[in-house]
Amino acid sequence: MRQQGAAGWFKHDITHRGVTAWALTLALALFYLLLYYGGRTVAGVYIPDVWTYVSDGLGLPHKWTFYGLLYTLAIVIGGVYVMRKYSHNRYQLVRTSVVIFVQCTLAFAIPWILAVFEQPEFYFSYLWPLQIENFYPSNVVNQPLPILLYSVLGSLVLVPILGVLYGKRWYCSWVCGCGGLANTAGEPFRHLGTKSMRSWRFEKWAVHLTLVIALVVTAMVIAAWAVGDNYPQFEETAASMQSFYGFLVVTMLSGIIGVVAYPIGGTRVWCRFFCPMAALLGLIQKFGRFRITVKDDMCISCGLCTKYCEMGIDVRAYAQNNEDFVRASCVGCGLCAEVCPRGVLRLENKTPRDPQELTMSSLLSESYR
Ligand code: SF4
Ligand code: SF4
Repeated sequence: MRQQGAAGWFKHDITHRGVTAWALTLALALFYLLLYYGGRTVAGVYIPDVWTYVSDGLGLPHKWTFYGLLYTLAIVIGGVYVMRKYSHNRYQLVRTSVVIFVQCTLAFAIPWILAVFEQPEFYFSYLWPLQIENFYPSNVVNQPLPILLYSVLGSLVLVPILGVLYGKRWYCSWVCGCGGLANTAGEPFRHLGTKSMRSWRFEKWAVHLTLVIALVVTAMVIAAWAVGDNYPQFEETAASMQSFYGFLVVTMLSGIIGVVAYPIGGTRVWCRFFCPMAALLGLIQKFGRFRITVKDDMCISCGLCTKYCEMGIDVRAYAQNNEDFVRASCVGCGLCAEVCPRGVLRLENKTPRDPQELTMSSLLSESYR
């Protein structure tokens, strides 16, 4: 609902795709253009390296430290806003505190300390396949053994086990910086995620395609390293795939579009449509214990749960049908339960599951809604 006065107009306009929302999108796009392409000539135009000048002025090692600082500040300030807004909800308070803590330590302070001691860069909260470079041999050979073990065991053991036990929420809504920014600074835009069937169909294909491409690129880069100079053409193809993935997925989709789209497309464009980690954890979630349970015959069909679901899930449809559900895309943010005026919804880790739900055909067909 729009409040009266200039402040009311602005609040409504910027959170409902008004002119100020588009202006913010353009400003964010310009910020990222300068960040990623500053100091280079693109299409014959020299782009000034503004953020390097700024970070030099602030005495920071490089512009990526400056960006990390801004990102962390956005999560801390947005996190405080979210904690005040949902101060009555213990789940949101604990979850947001963890998000802030992880960002400040694992994603900012520790990488900075590693840089100060001239150690290889490593972000402990980003694991393969989200951080695809973690498994590239050129990085692996430079990592100290404890970090290498953390990276491999984290991706191949910790991610699936916690995914089975707690669903994808343990990562997507508690640890990952992309989800962290979405659920803090992005909070005012969470309702903008599209709920159409067309977007759901696109999501299914796009997110799993990105996962497959991530797997193929990783395998090719490792294989190219293993065969060395014996197959130069294969090496060249692997290098092209690596740089294609780096440009399209890492830089454009994850680094730029994911955040630039907040004011017009909602906060989880990257997580929902393109993140390979979200795709992997979503598949695991379908077999795991996490689900949202529904209290029978309590729903009044107000639609608030669907409106505020950042992943575009039609939660109301399940509530109206008195149907507990597990959706691969659900990040377990808990906001559907929070906004429901009747306390209909609950996030749970239940066991054992109905064996009927675990068939491969149901996973691949209509239950994967
Ligand atoms: S269904 Fe609920 S918990 Fe899951 S993503 Fe949507 S709002 Fe968050
Ligand atoms: S918010 Fe609650 S009452 Fe409203 S549609 Fe969703 S489940 Fe039903």
